[in-house]
Amino acid sequence: MTKWTVSEIMNQMEARYPKHLQEDWDKNGLIVGDPDQEVSKILLAVDPVDATVRQAIEGNYDMMITHHPLFLRGANFVSRLDYKGRIVHDLIKNDVALLNAHTNADSATRGVAWALAKACGIDGEPFDVIDEDAAGNPRGLGRIGKLANPVTLDEFADVVAAALPTGPHGIFVGTPVGEDLSMQVETVALSGGSGDSFLDRARELGADVYVTADLRHHPASEHLERGKPALISGSHWATEWLWLPHLEEDLSAAAEQAGVDLEIDISRTVTEPWVDHRSTLG
Ligand SMILES: [Zn+2]
Repeated sequence: MTKWTVSEIMNQMEARYPKHLQEDWDKNGLIVGDPDQEVSKILLAVDPVDATVRQAIEGNYDMMITHHPLFLRGANFVSRLDYKGRIVHDLIKNDVALLNAHTNADSATRGVAWALAKACGIDGEPFDVIDEDAAGNPRGLGRIGKLANPVTLDEFADVVAAALPTGPHGIFVGTPVGEDLSMQVETVALSGGSGDSFLDRARELGADVYVTADLRHHPASEHLERGKPALISGSHWATEWLWLPHLEEDLSAAAEQAGVDLEIDISRTVTEPWVDHRSTLG
C-alpha cells in the first residue's frame, strides 16, 4: 500500500481547516519536519509539550498533529536551553514532523466548536459566521443551538461533565442573578478553549447557558450580575480535546478512500496545567 508524505497530510489538513480561517494573531502549519518524508503513524494531541512529544517519539510516530502552536509569538533561540528548543531538537533527531491547526480548526466544519456542540447534544449553527465551506456550511468560532428537550441547568451540567474527557479540572457552573441550578435551559451557546470574548454575543443571541473554558472571576461575575446566560466553564484542554476523535475519523476515512496505509492515534495524556482537584465546597 502507498503512503502519504508530510506534504500530502498538509494538503489534507488544509482542505478541512483552511489557513484563511485563522485569526490574525494565530500561527498554523508545519512547525518541524520534512514535507517529503513518508508518514506511517500520526499522533494527535491538543498540546505540543514534553509528555505528548515523548509519547510520539517512544511510539515511533512519524508525525504529530496538535491543536496549539509551539511558537505563537516567534522565537529567537531554539537551543536545548529552553523546553521549546528541546522539543524541536527531539522531534528532528527522531524524524517526527509537527503540524498544528489552531483557530482554523476552531471554526471549521467538523472542527473544535462543532465537536464541543455535538458532544453536548447541540446540532448548532455558528454564532459568528466567518465564511462558508464548499458545501455551503457556515463556519465560525462558536456554535448555538437548541437542546432536543429543555432540561434544568443541573441536568445539563451533568451532560457536559459526562461529555468531556476525564481530567482534574472538571467544570464550574455559574447561575445568573436571581436563578439557581433548577433554571430551565434550552438554547445553548458553546465555544471551546478561552471563550470569554463571546460572553456578550451569547447573551445577545438569547442563550440560556454558555459553555466554554478558562473563564476568569471578573468577566464571569460581571456577566452573571447582568443576567442570562448561565455559564459552564470547563478546562481549556478538555473542551478542545473533543475535536481529536473527529480529526482521526476524517483523516482515516480519507486515507482509506485513497488506498493509503496510515495509522492515527489520539493522545489521551491530560496536558492541562492541573494534576489534581480538591473540592472546597465542604
Ligand atoms: Zn486552545
